Amino acid sequence: MPTVVRCWRCQDEHTPQVFCPVCEALQPLPPDIDYFTVFGLVRAPMFDEQALANTYYDLSRQLHPDLHQTGTAEEQEASLQNTAVVNRAYRTLRDPVQRGRYWLELNGEQLGKENNKVPPDLALLVFEVQEKLAAGREAQSAGTDDALTSLKAELTQVRDELDDRMRGLQQKLAANFSQWGQTNSSTELLSELKRVLSDIAYLRTLTRDVEKAFSTF
Ligand SMILES: [Zn+2]
Repeated sequence: MPTVVRCWRCQDEHTPQVFCPVCEALQPLPPDIDYFTVFGLVRAPMFDEQALANTYYDLSRQLHPDLHQTGTAEEQEASLQNTAVVNRAYRTLRDPVQRGRYWLELNGEQLGKENNKVPPDLALLVFEVQEKLAAGREAQSAGTDDALTSLKAELTQVRDELDDRMRGLQQKLAANFSQWGQTNSSTELLSELKRVLSDIAYLRTLTRDVEKAFSTF
């Protein structure tokens, strides 16, 4: 990412930002600009979420293509391009899970594609879900409605437990975010972040399987 860009109008050199700090002309953001810089945030996974939303709405208004219809070709182009960058950046940063994945990327890491290994913390729960889903399929093909009804009640409990687990993981994620920039080693924080995010991904799949069972049983 370039650290300094030159204003197309007044030639001022400044760090990438939406408006030139000298002549206020709209500037095209470098396509590889990091999402924190887009919103003028310090590069850290924990920030004031309300401030992010406010900046996003301000920028969206200021960048709106209608406002730049009569501008130069540079401004019209920048308004379109920047709107796309700002929307992408906002979608990524406002969602803690996407933000976490993005933070991994910024730190040269990513979630493994081979996400099918059961996380040890979830092993028991996974086993329980699979057992109940198998029993459900069996009851369904045998046409034993009573068994299916009681199984659905059990699955409702499982769904609550999945929700609880998810809330716990979201708290862990927030706790991880809050520790960056403090004394903890970033290697440890990074591997914890990976673990939490892959647990979340796994839990989401499991939750989807249970939801699907509800719609088919
Ligand atoms: Zn300028």
